[in-house]
Amino acid sequence: TGRLPQYSSEAPARYFSSEPSLQVDSTEENGFKGHGMLAPFTAGWQSTDLHPLVIERSEGSYVYDINGKKYIDALAGLWSTALGGNEPRLIKAATDQLNKLPFYHSFWNRTTKPSLDLANEILMMFTAREMGKVFFTNSGSEANDSQVKLVWYYNNALGRPNKKKFIARSKSYHGSTLISASLSGLPALHQKFDLPAPFVLHTDCPHYWRFHLPDETEEEFATRLATNLENLILKEGPETIAAFIAEPVMGAGGVIPPPKTYFEKIQAVLKKYDILLIADEVITAFGRLGTMFGCDMYNIKPDLVSIAKALSSAYMPIGAILVSPEITDVIYSQSNKLGSFAHGFTYSGHPVSCAVAIETLKIYKERNITEHIQKISPRFQEGIKAFSGSPIVGEIRGLGLILGTEFVDNKSPNDPFPAEWGVGSLFGAECEKRGMLIRVAGDNIMLSPPLIMTPDEVEEIITKYGDALKATEERIAELK
Ligand code: PLP
Repeated sequence: TGRLPQYSSEAPARYFSSEPSLQVDSTEENGFKGHGMLAPFTAGWQSTDLHPLVIERSEGSYVYDINGKKYIDALAGLWSTALGGNEPRLIKAATDQLNKLPFYHSFWNRTTKPSLDLANEILMMFTAREMGKVFFTNSGSEANDSQVKLVWYYNNALGRPNKKKFIARSKSYHGSTLISASLSGLPALHQKFDLPAPFVLHTDCPHYWRFHLPDETEEEFATRLATNLENLILKEGPETIAAFIAEPVMGAGGVIPPPKTYFEKIQAVLKKYDILLIADEVITAFGRLGTMFGCDMYNIKPDLVSIAKALSSAYMPIGAILVSPEITDVIYSQSNKLGSFAHGFTYSGHPVSCAVAIETLKIYKERNITEHIQKISPRFQEGIKAFSGSPIVGEIRGLGLILGTEFVDNKSPNDPFPAEWGVGSLFGAECEKRGMLIRVAGDNIMLSPPLIMTPDEVEEIITKYGDALKATEERIAELK
């Protein structure tokens, strides 16, 4: 007991992949079955827990497993390694900061220079509207948790103790802590976790292809969703609804861009009933859509914003929330009465994470990252969307450097393939076989490659996607 499991590179097939890189020998008397990690979003029938793909090294848009096999990282880690795998400036920023001051906190009016500088930099970069302050977290989930506490604190300060409910959307993903999983609109995040919490309500997923009525235009669909939102608010009582949270483009729910006029109509309803708008930009911030923020793309004027992931290109864990000047003022006057704003994490504004984030933002600006994305994304979008005619593809959707594909039978949103065929997983395995890593969620697959991709790498993704699609079509023909 207590011994580490034995590893071998000769492993049988994993569920998702025909080429696992690691086998854990579970026959060893190590006191536990397989490896020692309860892995996030892993254990269960979707993947064997004994044969993980172990990534060892990264370089630009590529990662390598422990057998040296090379993969193009078409999801950029988890929608996050925007600058790719070995940006020397970020490594230098981290090591310089580690040498100078590896840690000091930001509680009780003590802080560090990197956290102050980063807060200012973020406020300057966000131009969709004026923002007042930045609060630092370690992740997107913590950012969204903090949003709820901040909004409650705000409404208590304003003497509105009943205005506490949140409205989120079906198929949204806002994280996996108790509160952020509650806000999320994905059943798997709620099932058996006793979630969502009772203060969270869910409204329509803005997915036109799947949910529009016959002959309904995108604009009419958006109007119907705004009306449904208004009806929900009226049914619950506007005095009980504190905030609405939305990703500018839904990510983990399947890459779902909003229908035309959606945010304009939703914002009008929220304004009418004095309901705050939280933009969850954890995926969309810093160029992913071809604009610096998703709010710029859709003319969203949020009261609060969550960011993470590309903020540090994922080199260090960090998230943040941007707070409007109006909310900041109320929080300041309330905390003056109480003595302090009693919320924060040991690592809020961690100097190493902040130093890396400052350098990341500097690189985005120096390299004109949005211009680069505008240049390479049309080919990425057209190249993949050219496969829309495949008999197993229902819809390919996306913009900028984010794309989702939904597999269905007969080109119809109402004809899913049998779940036990695992069509999304088959496609994922075909990609992996060809040296490309993507995200699979049921029969949806997603691409969100590093923002620094070259035109050649775009071509490589398109070719591998096409080959994997053809192989998946053949597998399905056999299954039929
Ligand atoms: N919000 C969105 C839109 C996300 O996509 C994610 C993660 O994928 C999160 C929040 C949660 O972020 P984290 O995993 O850093 O907690």
